[in-house]
Amino acid sequence: MVTINDTTLRDGEQTAGVAFSAEEKLAIASALSAAGVPELEVGIPIMGGEEREIIRAIAGQGLASRLMVWGRMCDADLQAAAQCGVDLVNLSIPVSDMQIEHKLKRDREWVLQAIHRFVPAAMEMGMEVSVGAEDASRADVDFLLQVAEAAEFAGARRIRFADTLGVLDPFSTYEAMRTLRSTVDTEIEMHAHNDLGMATANTLAAVKAGATHINTTVNGLGERAGNAPLEEAVMALRHLHGIETGIDSRRFPDISRLVAAASGRPVSANKSIVGEGVFTHESGIHVDGLIKHRDNYQSFAPEEVGRNHRMVLGKHSGCNAVVRAYADMGILLDEAQAGIILARIRRYAGKAKHAPDVDDLKRFYLETAVLPPLHF
Ligand code: MN
Repeated sequence: MVTINDTTLRDGEQTAGVAFSAEEKLAIASALSAAGVPELEVGIPIMGGEEREIIRAIAGQGLASRLMVWGRMCDADLQAAAQCGVDLVNLSIPVSDMQIEHKLKRDREWVLQAIHRFVPAAMEMGMEVSVGAEDASRADVDFLLQVAEAAEFAGARRIRFADTLGVLDPFSTYEAMRTLRSTVDTEIEMHAHNDLGMATANTLAAVKAGATHINTTVNGLGERAGNAPLEEAVMALRHLHGIETGIDSRRFPDISRLVAAASGRPVSANKSIVGEGVFTHESGIHVDGLIKHRDNYQSFAPEEVGRNHRMVLGKHSGCNAVVRAYADMGILLDEAQAGIILARIRRYAGKAKHAPDVDDLKRFYLETAVLPPLHF
């Protein structure tokens, strides 16, 4: 069992240049909640009155998802968080010597004292606490474990292990999480970043090592190269580890479009699960194989994520695909005709850099002089 905490509305919005309107935040929160995402990290209260207003509005919707807000481990952020009407707060504090010394200008002892002070303070304000161990992946392991024990002793229900710079791979993630898991009994949440393309893999490794919670974002939005994409985490956990997250994957296309539009960050065609091109097939060998048996070239049915296979013609098509595509349009070609048209399609694809549509195909047919007159 693993619980997804989606942070599209916090780390996702932290992406440079991304700012959601109140309407967009509300729409994204309800879409995620309707899809069954159990926890949402919805914003940073200390950013100001307007942000707190939006968070309160989300909290006022009575969504089924639990809501979390993000703050630094300090008085001002805690006070701001307490005004938002949510029941979970992630209090973030750097734990690597690099950030303790060169960002906070403090020392390890100060970090431990802050945990002892602010975790109970947040709980007295009626919130449950996740201690966000920032830059945990670059922290001294013994100190990280001290931090985790301090958090548990202070009453935190969760420790967020942040690979803030995305410097782990699945092997180092597994090892770090195993050590953490054997030291404390709190919930452990993995927060992965995709700087080296490892976010999803590291998230899976963390679950395998005993993480109870994982952070995701829709389309992998998030600082720099982003976080672990929600859609990838859900599908990989289901198909590789047999773990259900309770999330309705058929809603991914709608949610992906919503977030892409609101963030101004279009999804690339080859983005797994939600990219425009990931269920489109052109090459003769693959199309032929799919038609003979879908499982020749699919690892899961696209319908599971609200999509369909799509066959297009292009440079790598074979004559059979051409015959079939024209038959779908009511035009019967013999092999010789298909060969001539295929050559025309290849020229087109090379210039246009996309597949021909139905009108293009009709035009190629008419242009191909050797063919008999056409009677539609
Ligand atoms: Mn982050």
